[in-house]
This record gives sequence, structure tokens and C-alpha cells, in this order.
Amino acid sequence: MLSIKSLGKSYDKLRVLKDINLEINTKDIVALIGPSGSGKSTLLKCLNFLEPYDEGEVHFNGELVGYSKSASKVRKMAPQAEINRLRTRMGMVFQNFNLFPHMTLIENVIEGPVHVLKKPADEVRQMATELLHRVGLGDKLDVKPTRLSGGQQQRAAIARSLAMKPELMLFDEPTSALDPELVGEVLAVMRDLAGDGMTMVIVTHEMSFAREVASRVVFMEGGYLVEDGSAEQIFTAPMNPRTKSFLSRVN
Ligand code: ATP
Ligand code: MG
Repeated sequence: MLSIKSLGKSYDKLRVLKDINLEINTKDIVALIGPSGSGKSTLLKCLNFLEPYDEGEVHFNGELVGYSKSASKVRKMAPQAEINRLRTRMGMVFQNFNLFPHMTLIENVIEGPVHVLKKPADEVRQMATELLHRVGLGDKLDVKPTRLSGGQQQRAAIARSLAMKPELMLFDEPTSALDPELVGEVLAVMRDLAGDGMTMVIVTHEMSFAREVASRVVFMEGGYLVEDGSAEQIFTAPMNPRTKSFLSRVN
């Protein structure tokens, strides 16, 4: 589904991603782990071109993300409309919820499918209601985000992403801004999604969750993809000493 080849990126002179190669297949649940500053968020943002990359290629179902091929072999930035179209197929959930504060939950969820995908409003309203029920917010449809707990807001943000019917969901530390007692309810929604066969890439520091839900674990350090293996293998028998050292520090 997503194919990342020799990806490289710098912020000015700082190289933050170095020769990243990664294949994400349909129904994979990939936990992306690693120390602070290792490049996890940057990698996630390159996948849907929220950040442009300098080297290599990202293909989403065969389409080059963010660039188009040109006859002269010079990479050309794809038109914004094309980037936006690809982006609607990849949901993204950040640490800080990113809901529209002046809209109710149902309005937040309806917004994208109606205005971006141009779907009929009554059909979308029905789907949005179902999605909000699914994430446990069936009684909060007409409430604005500021009246909700962080956990509720994050669940609403997930529902809003799902309303676009993405083929892939990208999560960047979705629980790290939450009070500890609210983490479980968000993880439960993600666990439900995983059980439903959603393809997911999750940047997380929740190692027990990664161990339970992820099918694969990718460990990054210093801009390099250090190790990529099954969750079982990485957590029980990491091959790279850096992975081993990191896991012994965080567990
Ligand atoms: P954390 O676990 O703390 O979220 P991370 O693994 O997500 O870390 P990134 O946010 O991808 O790490 O950052 C990788 C490197 O790039 C860091 O050295 C960071 O300081 C740098 N960096 C990130 N964003 C920018 C930016 N917009 N401009 C300049 N440097 C940046
Ligand atoms: Mg980060």
C-alpha cells in the first residue's frame, strides 16, 4: 500500500531522515518507536507530504506522493489538487486533537465528507452519527470540543478522520497529551480499528499497547531506520543492540 524508498530529508543542514526504506502492506499495524528527535514525526509527515522530502520516493498504491514524474527525470512537485486527493485517502491523528473549536462534534465529522468529498449531507450525517457512536460519543453529537475531556476530543478526532473513509490511518502519539486515566479509552478505539482490519502506522511511546496491537515494529534512531520486525521478534529478541538498549530504557 505504501512504499518508501531511500527517503531522505533535511531541515536546513540537519539531516533528519537518512535512507529510509519501508513497505507498509494492507492491514499492517506498524508501531513506529524510537527516542525523541529520531525522526518519527517527520517520517509520518513525509508519508502524506505534509513535509516535502529531499531524496527518495513515497508511493501510495503505485502513485508517487507529492511529486510527479517528468520526461526529463527531474522530479516535479505534483499539483496541489493531486496532493490533496492522495491526502484524503490517508487519515492522520495528531497529539493535539485538531478539532474545529467553533463546531459541534457532528459538524466536525461532517465537514470533510461534505465539503471535500462532496457527498450528500443527509447520508454523511447518518454515517457521522454512527461513527460518533462507535467511538463512544453518541450522546455528545451537538457538543462543542471545548466542553469535552481530552480523551473525548481525541476520540472525536479519530471519528472525523474515519469519516473520510481513509485506506490508511497515521497516528502521531495520539495519547501523549492525555491525562493517564484518559489514555485507555483512546487506545480502546484504536484497538477496535485494528481489529476491524484498518491499516495503521502509529508513532507511540506506549510500549505495552504497541506490543499488544502492532503486527510490526519499526525502531528509528538518529534519522535511521534501525530495525524492522514483527512485534514479537522486536520485543522479545531485538537483533540490533541499539533497539535492545532503547527497549531496556523504556520498559
Ligand atoms: P519526539 O519523540 O520528540 O516527537 P520525533 O522522533 O518525532 O521526536 P521529529 O519531530 O521527527 O522527531 O524530529 C527529528 C529532528 O528534526 C529533530 O532533531 C528535530 O529537532 C528536527 N525538526 C523537527 N521539525 C523541525 C522543523 N520544522 N524545523 C527544523 N527542525 C525540525
Ligand atoms: Mg514526534
